[in-house]
Amino acid sequence: MTTTDLPTTALRARHRAVLPAWLATYYREPIELTHGEGRHVWDAEGNRYLDFFGGILTTMTAHALPEVTKAVTEQAGRILHTSTLYLSSAMVELAEQVAALSGIPDAKVFFTTSGTEANDAALLLATSFRRSNQILALRNSYHGRSFSTVGITGNTAWSPTSLSPLQTLYVHGGVRESGPYARLTDAEFIAACVTDLQEMLGQAEGTVAALIAEPIQGVGGFTHGPDGLLAAFKEVLDQHGILWISDEVQTGWGRTGDHFWGWQAHGQAGPPDILTFAKGIANGMSMGGVVARAEVMDCLGANSISTFGGSPITCAAALANLRYLLEHGLQANARRTGTLLRAQLESARPKLPIVRDIRGRGLMLGVALTDAAAATATLEHARSLGLLIGKGGRAGDALRIAPPLSLTEAEAREGGELLIEALRRADAERE
Ligand code: PLP
Repeated sequence: MTTTDLPTTALRARHRAVLPAWLATYYREPIELTHGEGRHVWDAEGNRYLDFFGGILTTMTAHALPEVTKAVTEQAGRILHTSTLYLSSAMVELAEQVAALSGIPDAKVFFTTSGTEANDAALLLATSFRRSNQILALRNSYHGRSFSTVGITGNTAWSPTSLSPLQTLYVHGGVRESGPYARLTDAEFIAACVTDLQEMLGQAEGTVAALIAEPIQGVGGFTHGPDGLLAAFKEVLDQHGILWISDEVQTGWGRTGDHFWGWQAHGQAGPPDILTFAKGIANGMSMGGVVARAEVMDCLGANSISTFGGSPITCAAALANLRYLLEHGLQANARRTGTLLRAQLESARPKLPIVRDIRGRGLMLGVALTDAAAATATLEHARSLGLLIGKGGRAGDALRIAPPLSLTEAEAREGGELLIEALRRADAERE
């Protein structure tokens, strides 16, 4: 069989013919993943990879986790779907757990099927509660692909020109890699961002509904402002009664190691008024959600429903997944293995001139490179070495490392070595 006869080659051509040109894929020759186990996945041609991107941060605990498979299979054998028109003990139990874990007092939870929809719901709540369509968002942010969420996405690579229903005011707070902000100390950076926020509020017309922020920017390349930034923002927001929405779609569930939520790294800031989550909660099944104080959640003056949000089968997966995460101390594991991996990358860094920055927390590590071509080359080399990683950054110049949180120390070391080798090869090509 020649390469052109391989089933994946044919699939690539069919994919291009029938799916949108803007649908992002990885690799010069995209691969088809067919199965996984633990921290590994296999492609249709039988190649095995260590998955350092956890799907796309969706495999929170492990691929094919038996506990989740069992819960899903049992639920599928009973009933697949009922809708929120009927009571569901799984949905109530999950909502109770998520509300308690969120740290938001008097919290209520609304389940959706994605992060986009969760942020959309958060915007609906904030704009209804505050009776304003003005939103503050961070530069370089990503909040989803819908009409409303592209309108608050600051990362221009992901925000197509369209007429947003919202009026968005962008403030500094995520990226400090270049320009005048790069040279500032943490305290100076926070002060400059607060000044920016105040200036934006000066330009706003009347009431502003909310500030939405990712505690660590995900698509933006795992970059974040200094600890305490959001606390400083919060002081200003409180003076105006502006709500704070913490987009925890990538940063939730202990991934950042030291904290269960990303907002907790910001000292006195929290809890936020509204928190959104998605990605790994159901270990890859479609679930997102929004958590808010009852007075905010209950402010909608109309009925609402999500036909598939919080379906019995995704709730069964999420309950089993969350139980595994908590019982096996995976947050502490993310801290331990993330620290190990980071140290390994830091020690190789002097010999890797293409690396500009190593950042992030826990098992959410970003490696900023000199340019987008270096990131693309590293991804290809990593793949050929049997390692899957992610890409991102304002200019597409960062690598994103986010393995399942059950990563072992041996796998962290092995993946670290493969990544360093991929960086070395990408570096050598540039000379
Ligand atoms: N918010 C953040 C921070 C994200 O990273 C993403 C997706 O990557 C979203 C929202 C949108 O989530 P989804 O792709 O599930 O709609």
